[in-house]
Amino acid sequence: MTRKKIAAGNWKMNLTADQGQSLVGAIVQADRPSDVLTILGVPHPYLQAAVQQASANRGVQIAAQNMHEAISGAYTGEVSVDMLLSLGVRHVILGHSERREYQKESNELLKTKVDLALEKGLIPIFCCGESLDIRKSGEHVTYVSSQLQASLFHLSAEDFGKIVIAYEPIWAIGTGETASPEQAQEMHAAIRNLIKEKYGSDTAESCSILYGGSVKPANAKEIFGQSDVDGGLVGGASLKAEDFLSIIRSF
Ligand code: PEP
Repeated sequence: MTRKKIAAGNWKMNLTADQGQSLVGAIVQADRPSDVLTILGVPHPYLQAAVQQASANRGVQIAAQNMHEAISGAYTGEVSVDMLLSLGVRHVILGHSERREYQKESNELLKTKVDLALEKGLIPIFCCGESLDIRKSGEHVTYVSSQLQASLFHLSAEDFGKIVIAYEPIWAIGTGETASPEQAQEMHAAIRNLIKEKYGSDTAESCSILYGGSVKPANAKEIFGQSDVDGGLVGGASLKAEDFLSIIRSF
């Protein structure tokens, strides 16, 4: 995947089917910059309808918010990679901090999910990011580095090149507190440097690294203006068409 500007929404467990349909419709039909890829991370029950709504518009793609690490089997309530692919889904958010916290998803489990997604042709949007305690201790770069090492750095350069990374400091998710543009740039540059050390400049320069954590219309332009920030993974502000469109137009 070449380095793209990406505005990705993560609806989490919000909206009814009708509300979701209206939101996808509003985003798909609106004027958006042609060089920005818009990705909507919708709840599993809405994936099929969302893929159909977005199919007429090349600039909008649909992501799942999770997938199971097994190909198929006795896993009640879970969703498999083949199910997602059979609906036309092309991206999957993996390693969101809420899943790491509430479902206890480990770096090792995420490695398995990343491998399966790539093997089958689904593009992972891989989330990483530190807690407030780690930020305060000054260990944030080391911590995020260990997440990348454990879940991604076993990949070949070719496979790594397909991944989108989302840096999401946990202390900024859903809290209204945003990393400053300087804090975001510092971490994004550090991530790109780690990729460069492991895979070389071409891979590092072509990797899209998104920032997530209370992105809203009022701060998107400044954050997206940082040289190593290629867009955002947006929770709360992706639930209102007007706000998310404003973010999409902030590059
Ligand atoms: C997220 O869910 O990934 C996120 C960044 O949420 P919010 O934008 O609401 O902080």
